[in-house]
Amino acid sequence: MDPQPFATRLTGRRWLSHDTFEVRLARPRGFSFAPGQFIRFDAAAVENGGAPERDYSMITIPADPDIGLLVRDTGTGRFSTLLGTVGMGTAFEFTGPRGYFVYRNAGRPAVFVATGTGLAPFVAMARSGAGGFVLLHGGRTTVDLYYETLFRGLARRYVPCLSGTGAADACPGAFQGRVTAFLAEHLAPGEYDFYLCGRREMIREATLIIDDRFPGGRVYSEAFY
Ligand SMILES: Cc1cc2nc3c(=O)[nH]c(=O)nc-3n(C[C@H](O)[C@H](O)[C@H](O)COP(=O)(O)OP(=O)(O)OC[C@H]3O[C@@H](n4cnc5c(N)ncnc54)[C@H](O)[C@@H]3O)c2cc1C
Repeated sequence: MDPQPFATRLTGRRWLSHDTFEVRLARPRGFSFAPGQFIRFDAAAVENGGAPERDYSMITIPADPDIGLLVRDTGTGRFSTLLGTVGMGTAFEFTGPRGYFVYRNAGRPAVFVATGTGLAPFVAMARSGAGGFVLLHGGRTTVDLYYETLFRGLARRYVPCLSGTGAADACPGAFQGRVTAFLAEHLAPGEYDFYLCGRREMIREATLIIDDRFPGGRVYSEAFY
């Protein structure tokens, strides 16, 4: 489906940590998408802003009455600050749905690998019924483990990969280190479908490790920044 323009309003905001929040937007009539896809806000269409175009993956599923996004407040970022501060009811325009980062049930075990808010498309995939997956979620400390309860319930194996000193000690099943170190040293050999989302450097490094350790593994990726 080609991206179409839609108008919406902010209906909710919930902070999940000091720098990460969910927003809810009214779902415009006629807007549909596949879990894993994203929407794009355009400069000209943003009230109160003038920010350049910005993309966000849905955490909600097509059957939900609203659109949910998971946003990192980057501190200095123009559009994430706008989303984190504007009043309820603020109007936005976006185009979508966009992207091809969707779950393909190919009969091979799926390994989802996310850093930070790169978790967003996996929230939608898990909520829409993708099952039997392993999830590696990279963050600094347990504060970064948004949707932990959801994934502990739905993943075949949920591995928080925490890079902050000693952070894994406080978290059952957590790995002390980055997602790439877990892939390089701890994921059991096998033929997997890998889904990578988040920082470009992580995707590059993970892809090299997969080529080396998991020949025949398929890789799908979405770089956020
Ligand atoms: C396909 C796609 C999907 C995306 N989905 C999401 C999403 O679901 N949630 C989300 O928060 N962002 C997502 N992004 C990133 C988003 O589009 C913006 O780039 C981000 O919100 C920063 O915009 P800004 O105007 O606030 O900051 P800017 O002023 O543009 O940049 C500030 C700094 O923040 C860094 N940065 C950008 N995104 C992130 C991030 N997510 N986490 C940590 N640092 C970051 C950049 O490297 C830059 O140095 C996605 C990007 C793409 C390409």
